[in-house]
Amino acid sequence: MHMLINGKFIDKSERIDIKNPADNKIIDTVPYGNRKDAKTAISAAKRTSKIAKEIPSRLISEHLYDIYGELSKNSKIFEKLITHDCGKPLKDSKEEVIRSKQTILLSAEESKRIYGETIPMDACIGGEEVMGFTTKIPLGVVGAITPYNYPLNLVIHKVAPAIAAKNTVVVKPSTKAPLAALKFAEIASTYLENGFLNVVTGSGSEVGDEIVKSDFVDKISFTGSIETGISISKRAGMKKLTLELGGNDPLLVLEDADIEKAVDAAVKGSYLNAGQVCIGVKRIILHKKIADEFTQKFVKATGKLIVGDPMSIRTDVGPLIDENAAITIEKIVNQSIDEGAELLYGGKRRGSFYTPTVLDNVDSKMDIVQEETFGPVSPLIHVNDIDEAIKVANDTKYGLQAGVFTNNINLALKAAKQIEAGSVIINKQSTYRADNMPFGGCKMSGMGKEGIKYAIEEMTRTKLFIVNPI
Ligand code: NAD
Repeated sequence: MHMLINGKFIDKSERIDIKNPADNKIIDTVPYGNRKDAKTAISAAKRTSKIAKEIPSRLISEHLYDIYGELSKNSKIFEKLITHDCGKPLKDSKEEVIRSKQTILLSAEESKRIYGETIPMDACIGGEEVMGFTTKIPLGVVGAITPYNYPLNLVIHKVAPAIAAKNTVVVKPSTKAPLAALKFAEIASTYLENGFLNVVTGSGSEVGDEIVKSDFVDKISFTGSIETGISISKRAGMKKLTLELGGNDPLLVLEDADIEKAVDAAVKGSYLNAGQVCIGVKRIILHKKIADEFTQKFVKATGKLIVGDPMSIRTDVGPLIDENAAITIEKIVNQSIDEGAELLYGGKRRGSFYTPTVLDNVDSKMDIVQEETFGPVSPLIHVNDIDEAIKVANDTKYGLQAGVFTNNINLALKAAKQIEAGSVIINKQSTYRADNMPFGGCKMSGMGKEGIKYAIEEMTRTKLFIVNPI
């Protein structure tokens, strides 16, 4: 596949092999873009931003509807591409494509309601006759840097709101799974001015760094690890930043919870995309009264999952992104067992596959609880009451989302108020995300929000007009 720079598909002799994580076979190659390619893309985006800001929102909206139509026509191609590229089970790739279409549709709708407001200037002395109102102005060029785990929807969560707000975009997708982003650029470019959307493949240290440091890029919208996010914030200078970073989301199961539903949520939340989800359930915090019943049912349900070929529609859990990722999970699980955790299920690696794994008697100070484990592992932590559950939930540097199972409205409200997270979800697991909701964490999980309307807010600036009577 090719890069898209200034409306042209650019090839290079130096290429990156893209492997299917399930069998490690090369499925495609993409150009090894460098700083010069990134600079060319940024210059094109800067030039086009002057045209983009003058396009009526009616037309911007139509372009986004057209892109939605094109993505709908090509859904099957994208589903397979995502599964081959990052090993996601086909049924989950189908879900990602459905959500990606929805993200574009929401952006097409939102592009026509980017409002300013009138300011009551007469609330201040001397403002009696003065009129003030604001409008929302596009920032110019948005640099979008994305991870491998949702290689289509996370690209669209940046590109579609950026276009809706009349910004131009330079995307740097993950080199671990860049194919969906490149294919998307191919179908979207037909409907956009040259330079509106650019996609440059290459390393973070070269292409990513150029986008982060460029004086012609007005905003960085980044999704990825905390380490990369911190490093970007140090290099970005005076750009607006949205950082959607790692998570370590808890699922609290309180004494009066509906256990069947909590087990179902824990299974869905822990093993979706082999645990490679920023809002995956990474810690299960159990009230001692229900801990035994929950654990027995959870282990049974985990054992029923089908692990294997991600192209089979029956598969629940596919491979991790590569063998190194699976080895990292193997090491942290073995370390936890050495430190006293009890292995109740799983704990086996085969190449890039790691079996869904349940660990009991986990201490909340262990690394497996303190650090984000990006794999299919469920550490179970026992607590005596809700206060201890909330204390454990808050006892990490992360704060993305949290799920709480309880039938008691008072406990639900207490947990919702006191858990430090971007969202607290009652009676559902943390993997719940509607694409229009304000999404984004606190603490080290990041800053700023996505979710179309909220992304647009972060991709525009407020300009004030003041009219004085003569
Ligand atoms: P990563 O940080 O390794 O890479 C993300 C992107 O940053 C890639 O495109 C990479 O090439 C680029 N990059 C790397 N170094 C860079 C640099 N120096 N300058 C600029 N760009 C650079 O993350 P990953 O391993 O691809 O993704 C997994 C992480 O992403 C997990 O921590 C996960 O929780 C997080 N994530 C967060 C969200 C969210 O919305 N909060 C969503 C998905 C994934």
